[in-house]
Parts: sequence; C-alpha cells; structure tokens
Amino acid sequence: MTQNLPNQRTHAVVIGCSLAGLFTARVLSDHFDQVTILERDVVNDHPESRRGQPHTRHLHGLLAQGFRIIKDLFPDLEDSLVKGGAIISDMGEAIRWYHFDGYKKQFTSGLHAVSVSRIFLEWNIRQYVTQLPNVTIQSSCAVRGLAVNDERTRVLGVHVVSGNDGAAETTLDADLVVDATGRGSSAGKWLEHLGYDRPPEDEVKVGVGYATRLYRRRENDLVGAKLVMISPTPPTQKHMSFLFPVENDRWIVSAGGWLGDHPPTDESEYLEFIRRLPVSDVYDVVRRAEPLSDVFTYKFPSSLRRRYEKLTRFPEGYLVLGDAIASFNPIYGQGMTSAAMQVQALDRLLRQQAPLTGLWRPFFQRIATVVDIPWQMAACEDFRYPETVGKKPAMTDLTNAYLTKVHRATQHDPVVYAQFLKVMNLMAPPTSLMHPKIVWRVLRGS
Ligand SMILES: Cc1cc2nc3c(=O)[nH]c(=O)nc-3n(C[C@H](O)[C@H](O)[C@H](O)COP(=O)(O)OP(=O)(O)OC[C@H]3O[C@@H](n4cnc5c(N)ncnc54)[C@H](O)[C@@H]3O)c2cc1C
Repeated sequence: MTQNLPNQRTHAVVIGCSLAGLFTARVLSDHFDQVTILERDVVNDHPESRRGQPHTRHLHGLLAQGFRIIKDLFPDLEDSLVKGGAIISDMGEAIRWYHFDGYKKQFTSGLHAVSVSRIFLEWNIRQYVTQLPNVTIQSSCAVRGLAVNDERTRVLGVHVVSGNDGAAETTLDADLVVDATGRGSSAGKWLEHLGYDRPPEDEVKVGVGYATRLYRRRENDLVGAKLVMISPTPPTQKHMSFLFPVENDRWIVSAGGWLGDHPPTDESEYLEFIRRLPVSDVYDVVRRAEPLSDVFTYKFPSSLRRRYEKLTRFPEGYLVLGDAIASFNPIYGQGMTSAAMQVQALDRLLRQQAPLTGLWRPFFQRIATVVDIPWQMAACEDFRYPETVGKKPAMTDLTNAYLTKVHRATQHDPVVYAQFLKVMNLMAPPTSLMHPKIVWRVLRGS
C-alpha cells in the first residue's frame, strides 16, 4: 500500500455503480487523473435492474432540479433519452394529479419533466460515464473494508473481493474513496471497526409498500394528460397510484400504501386495489392495457438519514453520499435529485480547491443542508398520519394545516400551483410558499 501524499488528486475510488456512484464518478473525472468505480454486481451493457438495486424496477419520477443538474453533468443526455423513447413534457400541463379530494389545475408551468424508466436513465448515464477516458468501471468487485494508515487517520484505499467465487482479495490505493453503496452501506460498520463512531441516525417509520407493473401503451389510452398521479388525503386515505409513460411505448404503474396498508401482488387483487382509489384515471387505462411484466413489490420500512455532519472524528480521504446518507420515502420522488445535489456540492468544494485533508467536514455540512429540505418536506407529509413513528420536524402540524390549504388552492389557482411545483421540485425554498402574495391567494381560496 502506497502512503499517498495528502491532497494529491491522482486516483479516486467510487464504491457503487448505481446513480449516485455514476454522478460522483462523472464529477471526480474533472478533478482526479483516474477514477475507478467498483460495483459488487455484474454490470451488463443494457438497461437492467441488478440484484444490488431491486428498487430500480419501480416507477421513478425525476424532479426538475435533478433533471437540471443531470443535464449539466451529462450534455446530450436529454437527446439520447428522447431518441430512446423518453417523454419530456411540461409538468403543469402533463400531470393529471388528484390530491386532497380534487384535481390540481393543469396549466403551462415552464418546469420540464422527463418520463423514463429508472433502468433506462441509469443505462444512458452509465454509457456516458463509460466513455470518459479516465473512468473505469470494475464490476463483480465487492468492497469489504477500508485500507488505512497505521494511525488509522487516513483512508488509503479499499479491500476488494472480485470474481464470482470471491476468492481473490486485493487492495486498491486511492487518494479519495467515495461510498455510494446505497441505504445498505457498510460505512458505519467499517468506521466502527477502525475505532470511529457510527453516525447518529434519524428515522421516520412509514411502512410503505409498492407494487409495480409494466403495460403496453397505446395512442389514446389517456386523453388530456401524459401521466396520472392519484395521491391520498391523509389521514383517512393511505393508498396511491402513479401511471407514467416510459420508453418503448409502455406504461409503468406503481400502486402503494402507507403504514402496512400495502397493495396485493395477485393480478386481479392488484387491479381491484387500483379500482378502489378515489378516481378511476389509472384503472381506466390499466384494465384495458396488456400487461408486460409481473407485479413487482418493494417494502420500504422507513426514511433514514445518517447524520455524518454530527461526527467530530472521521478518517481523511473518505466520503459517503447518495442513499447511503439519506433514503427518503420514495413516494415523494426525491432520492435521485438529492444524490445529484449532493454530488454538485462535492463538485463545488473541489472546484474551490478545498484540500482533501479535512474535506469531510465542509462536505458533510453541505450535504446536511442539501438533505434538510427534502427530508423535512417528506417527514412533514408523512406525519399527517398519526401512526407515523420518528422525530417529527418542528411545527409540522402548523405547516401541514397551511399546506392543506395550499393543496386545495392548487386545484383552482395556477399561481399557487406554480409555486408549489417549484418547491416540490426543489427549485424554490419552502418559505416561498409563505410569500404574502401566495398566502393571500391561498387564504382567499379557502
Ligand atoms: C421503491 C423505490 C422507489 C423510488 N422512487 C424514486 C423516485 O420516484 N424518484 C427518485 O428520485 N428516487 C426514487 N427512489 C430513490 C432512488 O432509487 C435512489 O435515490 C437512487 O437510486 C440513488 O441511489 P444510490 O445510487 O445512492 O444507491 P443504490 O441505487 O442503492 O445503489 C447502490 C449500489 O452500490 C452497490 N454496492 C453496495 N454495496 C457494495 C459494496 N460493498 N461493494 C461494491 N458495490 C456495492 C450496489 O450493488 C448498488 O449498485 C426510490 C427508491 C425506492 C426504494
């Protein structure tokens, strides 16, 4: 193992080749001579859901902020997505969204959404990253731990087990190691093993269950909108369903429920779950559509946030990001955008020539700021259900009382809806909904 010079930027290792890992490698390729992504699964050159990321089979909505950052990171990506059949549309016009007992008003919002399957999005991004001359993806490589100096103050690389039989263990040197291994990250365990504290965790138990199916999409399946979202009115209703168009003329449909009230997987019961939603927009499409897949399920017990910013000791040369830091209730569609924003924060720090020594402090502080807003937005909504367990953000009930009026105003007032969409898409701060112009319209409406 080389005792690398502090602050040299020769080689970076990214653990995990899902979206957060790919975003990270793209950014680090601007700052390091060489970047290696290590992925435990076999990574094939086609869109697929791997063993290490089963959630990628489910419907994924990308917020406008995430789309904006991704387009910056990957010029031409939008073109290749569209060529491959992704649908780009104006969010206000495209979404038929039933929420709080009414449809939100459809209008031209200027916010653009891409509707595409998660696996196709990742494959396009992976192709881009694969073509970067200084990035290498090594698949079937599981990282088993961190290699450190004698004092255990600096990470010098990673211990890797590669190949199908897992027999060959090697150590790979790196000036920086970024852990993008998702919610199941072993970072806490590895840190503890080296004599550091695990990060404290915040958890909001939501008991969400998803069931997803693909269907063939035909021209006139849905008239007057491109996608449908049916959200519940808490606390009495707990079920949702979203129907999004994706590439290859398919619909992806996810149905879900909070707090253990989960959709069934049996074909007819699944349809019945969708039929019983308060409006029939999703049911009207899927009851006639040809199914193209089984019904896949996913259980998501809790939103989980690891507070690395609270640690006072941390090894140099090591960072953690993506779902490994914050895994949000997926119903709000924040995870990919949060990962993109975190990677953008890392890029900005490195562009400011922040030395690698000590980088972890400003990095985790910035990540905490990035995560704060989506975390609080998701938690606030989840605490509308009294059975939700966890740390309730301050003023949740008051905020929710006002947001209920906002939701109702979005059904008739495009100005309020426009602002709400910007906040939901992390393009504007939640406080902007408290601007007197918006408050007046919200209260007038109610
Ligand atoms: C059901 C569901 C629906 C979702 N819907 C949305 C949505 O609508 N919108 C949205 O923005 N987000 C959504 N998300 C979140 C989104 O999927 C994630 O935020 C996104 O995939 C980024 O995750 P990640 O790259 O940090 O981690 P992951 O996708 O979990 O990837 C981690 C990777 O690390 C690899 N790995 C793990 N351990 C090791 C190791 N030791 N060595 C090497 N490799 C390793 C794994 O194999 C995997 O490839 C949803 C999540 C779920 C669960």
